[in-house]
Amino acid sequence: MTPRVVIIGAGFAGYNAARVLTRKHGRQVDVTIVNPTDFMLYQPLLPDVAAGIVDPRHAAVSLAATLPRARLLPGVATAVEIDRRAVHYTDPDGRARQVSYDRLVIGVGAVNKVLPIEGSADYSHGLKGIPEALYLRDHIIRQVELAAVAETEEERRARLTFVVVGAGYTGTETAAVGQLFTRSITRRHPHLKARWILVQYAGHLLPELGPYLQRAAERTLRERGVELRLNTSVAKEEAEGVLLTDGEFVAARTVVWTTGVRPDPVVESFGLPTTHGRIRTDEYLAVDGHPEIYAAGDVAAVPDLLNPGEPTPMTGQHAERQGAVAGRNVAASLGLRTAKPYKHHPLGFLVDLGGAKATADPLGIPMSGVLAKVVTRAYHLYAMPGNRVRVAVDWALDALLPRQVVRLGLVSEDAVPLDSADPELPRRAGR
Ligand SMILES: Cc1cc2nc3c(=O)[nH]c(=O)nc-3n(C[C@H](O)[C@H](O)[C@H](O)COP(=O)(O)OP(=O)(O)OC[C@H]3O[C@@H](n4cnc5c(N)ncnc54)[C@H](O)[C@@H]3O)c2cc1C
Repeated sequence: MTPRVVIIGAGFAGYNAARVLTRKHGRQVDVTIVNPTDFMLYQPLLPDVAAGIVDPRHAAVSLAATLPRARLLPGVATAVEIDRRAVHYTDPDGRARQVSYDRLVIGVGAVNKVLPIEGSADYSHGLKGIPEALYLRDHIIRQVELAAVAETEEERRARLTFVVVGAGYTGTETAAVGQLFTRSITRRHPHLKARWILVQYAGHLLPELGPYLQRAAERTLRERGVELRLNTSVAKEEAEGVLLTDGEFVAARTVVWTTGVRPDPVVESFGLPTTHGRIRTDEYLAVDGHPEIYAAGDVAAVPDLLNPGEPTPMTGQHAERQGAVAGRNVAASLGLRTAKPYKHHPLGFLVDLGGAKATADPLGIPMSGVLAKVVTRAYHLYAMPGNRVRVAVDWALDALLPRQVVRLGLVSEDAVPLDSADPELPRRAGR
């Protein structure tokens, strides 16, 4: 009997586990993936999708085309029966199904972190998937178009005000590329000027990165006119805007919430040991007390051997490599090779600041401006498991041609709740 490895989630971690297993041991193991979509989403491109630079399909790498030896079961895992070694999942038609496994890899990633701030889940949107990016792109265009025909100055100002809450790399990149996006839209309406505000609880942008990257990002955004509200948070959100903790009420119709992520809460029902919601593993990515189950990526609390006592941070860089090591160690547990502990020296960080600007510290070498932009884009093209030419062409076209500004209306506001782990959440009146 060929042993079956079931992988839940085809993101950075699950995809790379499947890649190692199918490429190196495709004849010896049956690799089955349970994932809601038929693609691996390269999330770092989402700000470019939201700003109309990259076609959404190009951030989505086809599983069938790039992992031809893996079998995809489209669906969302709902439970794991550890004793029977079975995964229960719901397929896209809503049918309850199950699949049995000899080895299981869990890589379901994370969801938006929602803070207990009044109104935030009702009026904000995150940027964690393609629907959110498409919604945001259309929403931004719509606000500018409506501002152009607004009957009052008050309405015009609110529609042209864009607030981003949280200045990790998602928030910082979103404000950077978003501001340039509205600039390109308002070119057709010279009397309009958009205002971007980046609200950050800490005293600096990008708190998890070093001072060089922080300063370079702050300088670039300030030069562009993005207002940085440091040491500030949101006290309350309403349909008309946000009340900041410094007492100012900012009238706005757009609030992008990027205050971080939390492990996908579905794992709470899996009955596995967790630390702060992440599945606890050893350095071989095996789940504590369950040698037949592995976990990797944002959802796994993997011991950081370079930082004893701490789990590895939730980044794509770790998730990708942990997935590959999980794949290898699953093969080792089946007697196909030797196991290896997970240890990764971070390669540095890359922050795309839109236009010709970026800031980065690859291999500890700090840089900003055009050189950093080239390094940032080259890294993403290298790290993407597919669609490289398509993305490179999107970037080239964006540099050569005016940005295409059209609303396609594909995603409704209700389809992209901030609390994506709770899609049934009742929403108040939309914007
Ligand atoms: C806008 C943005 C920019 C980013 N930029 C960077 C960057 O520059 N550098 C960096 O290192 N990191 C970056 N990150 C973080 C990085 O994308 C994540 O750390 C990484 O995606 C985590 O990988 P993962 O495999 O754990 O989860 P994910 O990549 O999120 O994949 C999880 C997969 O599991 C699936 N899934 C979820 N629930 C279920 C279920 N119940 N059943 C079946 N499947 C399920 C999902 O559909 C998805 O396919 C960025 C993130 C965002 C949102």
